[in-house]
Amino acid sequence: MPWFSRSKDNISPDSQKKDLPDGLWDKCPGCGEIIHKKQLESNFWTCLKCDHHFRIGSEEYINILLDKDSFKEMHKKMRSPDPLKFEDTKKYKDRLNNTVKALGLYEAVRVGTGKIDGRNIAFACMDFQFIGGSMGSVVGEKIARVIDKAYKNKIPLILISASGGARMMEGAFSLMQMAKTSSRLARLSEAKTPYISIVTDPTTGGTTASYAMLGDINIAEPQALIGFAGPRVIRQTIGKDLPEGFQRSEFLLEHGFIDTIVSRKDMKETIFNLLSILD
Ligand SMILES: [Zn+2]
Repeated sequence: MPWFSRSKDNISPDSQKKDLPDGLWDKCPGCGEIIHKKQLESNFWTCLKCDHHFRIGSEEYINILLDKDSFKEMHKKMRSPDPLKFEDTKKYKDRLNNTVKALGLYEAVRVGTGKIDGRNIAFACMDFQFIGGSMGSVVGEKIARVIDKAYKNKIPLILISASGGARMMEGAFSLMQMAKTSSRLARLSEAKTPYISIVTDPTTGGTTASYAMLGDINIAEPQALIGFAGPRVIRQTIGKDLPEGFQRSEFLLEHGFIDTIVSRKDMKETIFNLLSILD
């Protein structure tokens, strides 16, 4: 048994803190277990004890789902022109520049092509870290273009969502992305090219109301928060308490909003099997 899973009685919280070098360990939000990052990574960023699925970004999903070195990114450096010259607590332009610098990502989605067990696919993955995975004009445009790539090359599309919804700093330009991506997906569907949507924690707002729920198969990760408006807003609007587990994957599966729940460990195999049936 590794030393770090000794019973908690032997370790006071203070000594535990001192023993944890910054950045090497993570605490599970589900059960509080302290887990080494290397161990988490080899377990697909899920808790070894309670199966909590940690929030991860596009880089991790690319490593988990795609064949090694197969991802070819498209439109990597596309940037928002800040059409409204928007400013809240800071200028939108500055917020974008700071985020790009801090994360090394250019926008809240990465798109391109790749392979899953040798099978060519078009691939998109959102990054929640990038301004809450908000869907601005660049996110919409990149997704529209990767749908077009799938359409032209007749290859299946796999899209992973993690998003707080439309990006308020781009106002109506953000909302227009819902129509744009949805109409492109309709064309893809008419061409009978498969689209698998993977919905992760959290996916809400305009993203749920457009491409995240339009897959031929909509897969959710376990326990993911998926909804349109948040639970607090709904509770206030209808003036009633919400049922337990409301807006979590398991609740949505029971009510027919998603098709299946798949653990991250089984995701690649599941997608491959589904594509073998659909494509
Ligand atoms: Zn846990």
